[in-house]
Amino acid sequence: MPRRDSSPRPIGAAELLSIGSELTTGETRDTNGGELARALSGRGIAVLRIQALPDDLEVVTKAFGAALEQADIVVSTGGLGPTPDDLTREAIAAVTGETPAVDAGLEAWLRSLWDRRGMPFAEINLKQAWLIRSATAIPNHNGTATGWWVERPDGRTIVALPGPPREMRPMWADWVLPRLDARGPGREQEVRTLRLTGIGESQVAERLGESLLRAPNPVVATYARSDAVDVRIAARPEGRNGSGPPRSAAEVADAAEANVVAAVGEYVWARGETTWRAALGQRLDELGWRAAVVEIGLGGELTALFGDAAWLERSESRREGDMADAGPASPSTLLEETAERARRDARTEVGMAVRATERGSDMAVTVAVATPVRTHAERRLAFLGGSQGRSRAALTAAAVLLAELRRPDAETARPGRRSEATDQVEVRR
Ligand code: AMP
Ligand code: MG
Repeated sequence: MPRRDSSPRPIGAAELLSIGSELTTGETRDTNGGELARALSGRGIAVLRIQALPDDLEVVTKAFGAALEQADIVVSTGGLGPTPDDLTREAIAAVTGETPAVDAGLEAWLRSLWDRRGMPFAEINLKQAWLIRSATAIPNHNGTATGWWVERPDGRTIVALPGPPREMRPMWADWVLPRLDARGPGREQEVRTLRLTGIGESQVAERLGESLLRAPNPVVATYARSDAVDVRIAARPEGRNGSGPPRSAAEVADAAEANVVAAVGEYVWARGETTWRAALGQRLDELGWRAAVVEIGLGGELTALFGDAAWLERSESRREGDMADAGPASPSTLLEETAERARRDARTEVGMAVRATERGSDMAVTVAVATPVRTHAERRLAFLGGSQGRSRAALTAAAVLLAELRRPDAETARPGRRSEATDQVEVRR
């Protein structure tokens, strides 16, 4: 239905078309779709669908038609080259019912590019100077394929960009995004991410329950990442709902977050995009503490996880076997002693010792943490062996360390109160 008012159509929903047979044959990965989806989602524009399509005029034309029925904006990448298999312009012309014509300004610019290089201009390139009446050219400073910004009578928009990421990216960032932002933000949206450890994704899903995970607003989803299971809450405002008053996106998110916390709160270790290194760093900063770490049999995974964090005074990686002939003491006791020695030697408040050994196809992990409050050791099992098991063992160690640092009694042992605390708090073994 044509919109007769002059205010531009708000952009709430998008569809993305990644065009090129190299994508549907698997020769090239579609990275454009994901990048554009992230930028749009971050602006509160819902991406309804990302499709990869072959260089087939009928398929591409139909896809534009279908996308324009659902979305306020359709963004395509690819198919803007000069060769006969690049058909995006033809498809857009077909779907809008317009006829492309060579634009004199674009033609002059194209010819100048060839002149500058002293090369003859192949007429096949003229296609890259095409425009339709409803299209505005999007300049390409890194190639010869000009993009199209097309406004439909009903206020919907088509954006066609070339496929090569180094051409597409600056055109998107410098030309398209400012125009999208000028249209006003997408739907107001509130996104929260809770990061969980010590629980599997399927258990999280089971605890959250289907009604929460299938609700259209907020969208609550779980993601198994390498360093955490994330629960993402994406909320939009809600109009008057039955007897309930309208709610802002933040209010909708608050309510869902309370439900998520009630279900899995004890496993939440961070929010947003926080890494282990950052979460530990923040807590150590609060306490004014630094740490020294000894890892045994982890192949440097723990050191890699912590990187060159400012709070890490010393880290040492030993091979498994270094503790094999340490006498009759239990592995936990030995490791506690190693943690305490690390702390003493490095003159840090925290010492940690971690040991991982293959147990069947998994990894047995022992973690000892010595702080001014107490020395504590625990044993855990990390799924999988080999390098995956070692990197999971490192995450397990990070989780044990963070839990120790977050104990309420750690507060009483802050620097300045340290001597008092070490006098008063018994080192529990
Ligand atoms: P085009 O001539 O505009 O069809 O794009 C040609 C080249 O851009 C391809 O050969 C790929 O290397 C790259 N390309 C096209 N589409 C994509 C995409 N969706 N993601 C990443 N690279 C792409
Ligand atoms: Mg192509």
